[in-house]
Amino acid sequence: MTPRRIIIVGSGPAGLTAAIYAARAGLAPLLFEGEAIANNDLPGGQLMTTTEVDNYPGFPLGVSGPELVASLRQQAERFGTEIVSRRVTALDLSRRPFTVATVDQSYETASIILSTGAKARMLDLPDIWSWLNRGLSTCATCDGFFFKGQDVAVVGGGDSSMEEAIYLSRLVRSVTVIVRRDQLRASNAMVERAKTIANIKWRWNSQIVAVDGGDRLASIMLTSTTKARAVSLAVSGLFIAIGHDPCSELVRGQLKLDAKGYIVTEPSSRATSVSGVFACGDVQDSHYRQAITSAGSGCEAALDAQRWLEQRVLQSEPTVMSR
Ligand code: FAD
Repeated sequence: MTPRRIIIVGSGPAGLTAAIYAARAGLAPLLFEGEAIANNDLPGGQLMTTTEVDNYPGFPLGVSGPELVASLRQQAERFGTEIVSRRVTALDLSRRPFTVATVDQSYETASIILSTGAKARMLDLPDIWSWLNRGLSTCATCDGFFFKGQDVAVVGGGDSSMEEAIYLSRLVRSVTVIVRRDQLRASNAMVERAKTIANIKWRWNSQIVAVDGGDRLASIMLTSTTKARAVSLAVSGLFIAIGHDPCSELVRGQLKLDAKGYIVTEPSSRATSVSGVFACGDVQDSHYRQAITSAGSGCEAALDAQRWLEQRVLQSEPTVMSR
């Protein structure tokens, strides 16, 4: 089989934007869209789980996550992206051309863009995900605005929990930070800042044991090592900030990852530690984690891959551009 010029793994905003750019550059990308993570049975990444995206530029009235992904997909296909409804099960980056395998087929490619995203860690409570879009959130930047003037809680004791609480404190009436221990893991600077904010309250040594409500979340039940009985806290929003796991298992041991498993890219490009392999979106970004930043880095990865392929052709590797 003739090697492809470029294979993209992932169909979130990063992968689909990379596909739009690669397809318009004439690289005929093949994109593996992976599996559905939401109830609607459609792949497309984290945005498929959200009903309202209000901060993606170009949609003055907002757009639902699935609609946004469908538009990106349509745009990628319009320029000739070939989309395969499969999960990639293995990659071999040790030899060129690289090999990309699914359960039933294997493909060769000169270059790869990885855009496999990340997953928010969740509380271990039955049916907790069913509260998503009904008061439960994993992203204050995305959803904080919807809770203006209300009482909310943030779970977690690390830097990201402090960031979420500080961000929310400017929008909501009160933020209660639920911390499992009697101290925080967050950096001193963050803790000091959060502790000076009047509408941030603290529940130490506490754990959420249940979430209650009707159509929308209305309260959480907390157990505490200092109180005998579980207590109820009335909140309309619950923000989970206990970390994210990048979906980088395919390249563990093959690409340089940071201590948390995020793919390391070069400071001013989306190139990874293996020449010809690029990464974009949440799988290489533990900091911004937004649809627009993922799309932006998808564009960068495609431009980097295109330039890399062009240089290879100039360096007399004609097979690279053979397809
Ligand atoms: P993802 O969207 O996670 O996509 C990853 C893709 O990789 C998926 O298609 C998956 O199927 C695929 N994949 C993974 N492994 C494989 C494999 N082995 N083979 C093939 N495919 C694979 N951001 C905003 O800007 N605004 C918002 O309002 C907003 N709301 C959000 C609400 C929720 C509930 C969540 C969870 C996130 C929200 N975000 C929002 C964040 C935003 O969704 C992410 O930052 C963005 O989707 C990341 O894009 P990505 O393409 O990097 O990864």
